Amino acid sequence: MVGGGHNGLTAAAYLARGGARVLVLERRPLVGGACVTEEPWPGFRINTYAYLAGMLSGRVIEDLDLTRHGYRTIPHDPEAFLPFPDGRSLTLWSDLARSQKEIAKFSKRDAAVYPKYLDHWSEIIGLLGPILGGPPPSLRELAEQFRGPRYERLLRDLVLRSAEDLLSEWFESDELKAVLGFSACVGAFTSPRRPGTAYVLAHNSVTELEGRAGAWGFCVGGMGRTTEALARAAQTFGAEIRTGMGVRRLLVQDGRVAGVETDDGGTVESRIVASSVDIKRTLLALAPPDLVPAELQRQVRGFRTCATTLKFNAALRRLPRFSAAPEAPGPHHRASVLIGPSLEYLDRAYETARAGRLSDPPFAEILFQSAVDPTVAPPGHHTMTCSVKYAPTALAGPSWSDRRAAAADLVLATIEEYAPDIRGVVEHAQVVTPQDIEETLGMTGGSCFHGDLTPDQMFSLRPFPGASGYRLPVPGLYLCGSSAHPGGGVTGIPGRNAAQVMLADLKGVASPPA
Ligand SMILES: Cc1cc2nc3c(=O)[nH]c(=O)nc-3n(C[C@H](O)[C@H](O)[C@H](O)COP(=O)(O)OP(=O)(O)OC[C@H]3O[C@@H](n4cnc5c(N)ncnc54)[C@H](O)[C@@H]3O)c2cc1C
Repeated sequence: MVGGGHNGLTAAAYLARGGARVLVLERRPLVGGACVTEEPWPGFRINTYAYLAGMLSGRVIEDLDLTRHGYRTIPHDPEAFLPFPDGRSLTLWSDLARSQKEIAKFSKRDAAVYPKYLDHWSEIIGLLGPILGGPPPSLRELAEQFRGPRYERLLRDLVLRSAEDLLSEWFESDELKAVLGFSACVGAFTSPRRPGTAYVLAHNSVTELEGRAGAWGFCVGGMGRTTEALARAAQTFGAEIRTGMGVRRLLVQDGRVAGVETDDGGTVESRIVASSVDIKRTLLALAPPDLVPAELQRQVRGFRTCATTLKFNAALRRLPRFSAAPEAPGPHHRASVLIGPSLEYLDRAYETARAGRLSDPPFAEILFQSAVDPTVAPPGHHTMTCSVKYAPTALAGPSWSDRRAAAADLVLATIEEYAPDIRGVVEHAQVVTPQDIEETLGMTGGSCFHGDLTPDQMFSLRPFPGASGYRLPVPGLYLCGSSAHPGGGVTGIPGRNAAQVMLADLKGVASPPA
């Protein structure tokens, strides 16, 4: 197994459980990939990259007994807090009546229609969930699941529309559209005004936490507890994990992948090799060039890996006070705090990033995990992770390393608009740029999800037609990370589905339905 991110570990656990001998080679000194919690300052446990739990498949949690291995979560409530520069705010709760009361501050009509929208959305999510959990369907198979005008409407809303068009059909309030449309841009480098972003919104809504569909929240102790639990599960089933051991290249014999060469020059022979690193790194950097025909290389290059993030992670002396909700601590500190007061703001941020600049002002999601889970900070202190979207892979002009201080200042200045005391409460801070993500984790271009989550790159089109079923078009080589169906996010599904295909191939039987 190349890479010990959460998908590599999930695949390793299923493979070992199925009787295969498994060796995981992880380049970093710790497992987890983008799903890790580190301690950059004593006592502060920081989710360096991924920060929100909710996507991990319930089947994976159950099959691998992750709760026994220490995986615990807390759904967050309120779910979202959107402050506006003029001091107003909109909070969404898990309780419908409470959310409607908030929405009514902006539009009574929207508050009344909101439950119907949630039903419509739940129907879409209810159809999408099993599709994302199973093997990648072809476009034809997908369309067959949506027959008749009612289902065609759902299919249109799911794959063809922009988030803005979808939301505007239901609502008049720009404030509500902003809070609901925010995640249409998470995992895709695109504007919520562009076709296909309703899909991104739906993809990011297929979550479940503690039995609550659609919930997001925190992994107790930090996201890294997820991958620690997965590693323990894999080891319990007999998998071996070697950290600090990168793979330099794939070994080939008689046109088949037959093992790997490690960074220290050693070799490991294996009947099959699974790669959990992204498709570009797998086929363009690790595979010998003569193994990947020019036509295949072209398809790999065409896979879009533009959705990146800049993280501003901090240790706080206390929670900041928001002008829109001066209480500290207050319920809003337990929510996803969203900086992005309108879809127009997000669109502008996108256009700036397209020109090679960090969006100014950027749109961002802020989490204070310590307000819900005090185990991540020393008593009385807090953690803050701020995920800034639309950070371009490459800046026009100076490189990311030269823009680190300017990026930190821009993030603080942006938060300051809403929480004027932010600079005074930050004790320590780190900036993680797309370039850092690429160098540390090996994600091409810092692409957080190993490839954008737009409909043209999903289902049997992920990573590209002919390579979607976890077997790559190179004998003996499999893909089990987020470049495979159903894409990125801490789901464990690519790892699980790929392991089933590999086990079937090892046993010489037809692969079972995932
Ligand atoms: C900044 C950021 C924020 C995110 N936020 C969220 C979130 O809040 N919630 C969510 O669900 N998802 C989030 N995501 C997405 C999610 O974290 C990823 O999709 C997921 O963790 C990817 O898992 P993976 O196992 O497929 O790949 P990775 O995590 O990329 O794992 C690949 C592993 O391979 C290793 N590796 C690379 N090259 C080699 C080599 N040559 N030899 C050996 N090992 C190698 C890497 O070190 C890494 O450990 C975020 C991602 C990022 C980057």
